[in-house]
Amino acid sequence: MLNRLLCAAIFACAPVTFAQTLHRSGPAADRLDLVILADGYRAGDRDDFEAEADRVLDALRSTEPFASYMPLMNVHRGFRASGSSGSSANNAYGTQFSGGFFSSRLRASRVTLLLADAVRAGGEADAVLVILNASRRGGTATGNTCYVSSGAGARVALHELGHAIGRLGDEYSSFSGTPTLTRAQLAQIYPNLTTESTRARLPWSDWVASSTRVPATLFTSGVSAYSGGGAYSNGIYRPRRSCRMRTDTPGYCEVCRQHLVVAIHRRANPLRLQVTGSGSSRRARLVGSMPDSAWATRWSGVQGQGLEARVPAGVNASVVVEDRTPWVRGGALRATLRYRFDARTGAGGPVAGGGTTQIGRVVGVSSRLRVRQRPTTASSILGHLLPGATVQVLGPAEGGFYPIAWNGGTGYVGRNFVSLQSSAVGLTSVVGRWR
Ligand SMILES: [Zn+2]
Repeated sequence: MLNRLLCAAIFACAPVTFAQTLHRSGPAADRLDLVILADGYRAGDRDDFEAEADRVLDALRSTEPFASYMPLMNVHRGFRASGSSGSSANNAYGTQFSGGFFSSRLRASRVTLLLADAVRAGGEADAVLVILNASRRGGTATGNTCYVSSGAGARVALHELGHAIGRLGDEYSSFSGTPTLTRAQLAQIYPNLTTESTRARLPWSDWVASSTRVPATLFTSGVSAYSGGGAYSNGIYRPRRSCRMRTDTPGYCEVCRQHLVVAIHRRANPLRLQVTGSGSSRRARLVGSMPDSAWATRWSGVQGQGLEARVPAGVNASVVVEDRTPWVRGGALRATLRYRFDARTGAGGPVAGGGTTQIGRVVGVSSRLRVRQRPTTASSILGHLLPGATVQVLGPAEGGFYPIAWNGGTGYVGRNFVSLQSSAVGLTSVVGRWR
């Protein structure tokens, strides 16, 4: 709703902008929508911007995990002409270099207009990249919006998208500014940084080979704990010697790649369960834009084969389907790649922490709201929520119940007692772990 109000307010007075979808894999509600916008390009410079946006798209298509997960992404391009060229407070969104001559930080001053254009160009605008027409190198990310100068190019754009899409931290050890967060804060916020340096306590221990030294020495290769990250040179560790989040190397490290895959799943609903036919010839089939071989299925109540099963009317059946990717390790993270569907109705969605995650508030109960183990009043009670409590809604309602985050797992509460907060949460700048 907020999105629509913003657009309506700005449509009235805005000069013409152009929006194009460069890559479409499905409806915005079911995909990660990336929007690339222009700033500091005059009307006559539009070709230059389009070529720059194409280079970013090419980089996405040739860099994992994006290359493999383009079937869960949409990429849009939006153009608003600026009155002047380059870094300036007077260009379309007021994007300019900030923080002194040596700083490569970029910041926009007209963020409301920028976000409204992003929504106009790309539906849900899960991530926004602004390309500034300037030869000086620069890039910055704030929440799910990031900036890059044309002089810095597509590789730096990928680094900034690591922040904006994956909520990844910088793995470099120094930069021209001063770190604004402590090491402990960085480690808490970013999944690719830690203050721990023992194998058992590393957040990415699933990726460390038994023969690898932890912490890393000068001669270590592979995933370990390498000193330096978040603009500190010591007291904080990163997973690899080099990574897109540290240097100009082309690829992301295993840990960053893993969190990008999870982030894509958390914003996408990759599958639907189509139920066709009637009586004893009723069939259920999972359909999506990823190759069928990407999925592992576990049918309950019926004998299923791969993505398909015969589900005679009246039979109580369901399917749990999981992305087979070897790029995500560990129980909690793998759970975000898992979806469950009711094979009688076709209803379903992420099992935990994925897809349309939203914040809700407990309303309409006088004393307390029951949290149940399964989406039925017959299932056991895990605990209670007080009126006004904030909950994290993990997916669409199933049988009148919302799945919510509960003690590290999933619980279910009656949907009529949860008021979902604005659907524009995807547009607010949130620094922190994305759930
Ligand atoms: Zn990394």
